[in-house]
Amino acid sequence: MAIIGAGPVGLFAVFECGMLGLRCHVLDALDRAGGQCAALYPEKPIYDIPGYPEIGAAELIDRLEEQAAPFAPAFHLGHAVERLAPLPTGGFRIETAATAVEAGAVIVAAGVGAFGPNRPPLAGIEAFEGKSVFYLVTKREDFRGKRVVIAGGGDSAVDWALSLAEVAQIMLVHRRPKFRAAPGSAARLAQLAEAGRIEMVIPYQLHGLEGAGGALSAVVVADLDGRTRRLEADILLPFFGLSQNLGPIAHWGLALERHLVAVEPATCMSSARGIFAIGDVATYPGKLKLILSGFAEAALAAHAIHPLLHPGEALHFEYSTTKGVPGRGAPA
Ligand SMILES: Cc1cc2nc3c(=O)[nH]c(=O)nc-3n(C[C@H](O)[C@H](O)[C@H](O)COP(=O)(O)OP(=O)(O)OC[C@H]3O[C@@H](n4cnc5c(N)ncnc54)[C@H](O)[C@@H]3O)c2cc1C
Repeated sequence: MAIIGAGPVGLFAVFECGMLGLRCHVLDALDRAGGQCAALYPEKPIYDIPGYPEIGAAELIDRLEEQAAPFAPAFHLGHAVERLAPLPTGGFRIETAATAVEAGAVIVAAGVGAFGPNRPPLAGIEAFEGKSVFYLVTKREDFRGKRVVIAGGGDSAVDWALSLAEVAQIMLVHRRPKFRAAPGSAARLAQLAEAGRIEMVIPYQLHGLEGAGGALSAVVVADLDGRTRRLEADILLPFFGLSQNLGPIAHWGLALERHLVAVEPATCMSSARGIFAIGDVATYPGKLKLILSGFAEAALAAHAIHPLLHPGEALHFEYSTTKGVPGRGAPA
């Protein structure tokens, strides 16, 4: 098996495939496993993973890696898959710029694709990126005592304004008074603004950056009439969502719907026999982009792949309690 994407869903697919005796290569463009959970919100708690009333995103990834470990997956991290082509002998060849693997079947678990933040169009922003302009927060403590401008009106902007207000001075820039955030968070934001703990800079948009050597001294904002205001600041966190770019996956000849891979919901098979898609990258009627849906899709795909790779071999459905997990001891 080749699994493209080592996000939470790709990692769980290693377990599901492993339980059916399928060995996996796992390829990811990023240099660590965990997908969005590890790259975008490692410190956030997740509340809708069955069996965990609350679990940190980074901890969930640690647990999934632990669960996959008995099946000894071959990880190829830091390698974006560029080409996927059928082999004349059956199976597929999966190529990155530096490596290639061959596999009997492929699971595409590539999330939103080669994801990246939407950058605000500010002159010279590249010089500040990674030094005083960040598109994600990996460690809240890095911002303690700093003057932080947060820009955006969605969940990320609001959640980080609420969280960072506990350790930093926050100015929240948004072009209109209404936020596209969970009602509870929006209400809490209004309370903190009222109490003077968060400065609301509304209706403004980012206009320019001031500073030298990658260190920011001020963020310039402009209102809808073009009147500017200078916010003295050490850090800018623009949260304008993720650019959804399927990248090379869009050119593999798979049927797509709204930039996602269309699959048959009972098996998660794409329009190409032997290529499956699960998690955020897959779509079908009623699809919910949740980690738990991706987990169930991993189980469906593994059970549909087994007969393709082992035709004529009966696959008896078994619970993990009956079967046990190799390397973890036999079931009691
Ligand atoms: C701030 C935030 C909070 C969230 N909170 C929740 C929540 O509370 N509950 C919930 O269920 N969901 C939540 N989500 C959504 C959840 O994170 C996603 O549904 C989940 O990450 C999807 O997992 P995945 O494995 O399908 O994809 P991803 O996590 O996106 O991982 C896909 C991986 O594929 C890799 N990849 C892509 N293209 C290629 C390629 N060509 N070659 C190699 N590798 C490639 C990427 O680098 C990435 O590592 C949240 C998302 C965000 C951003």
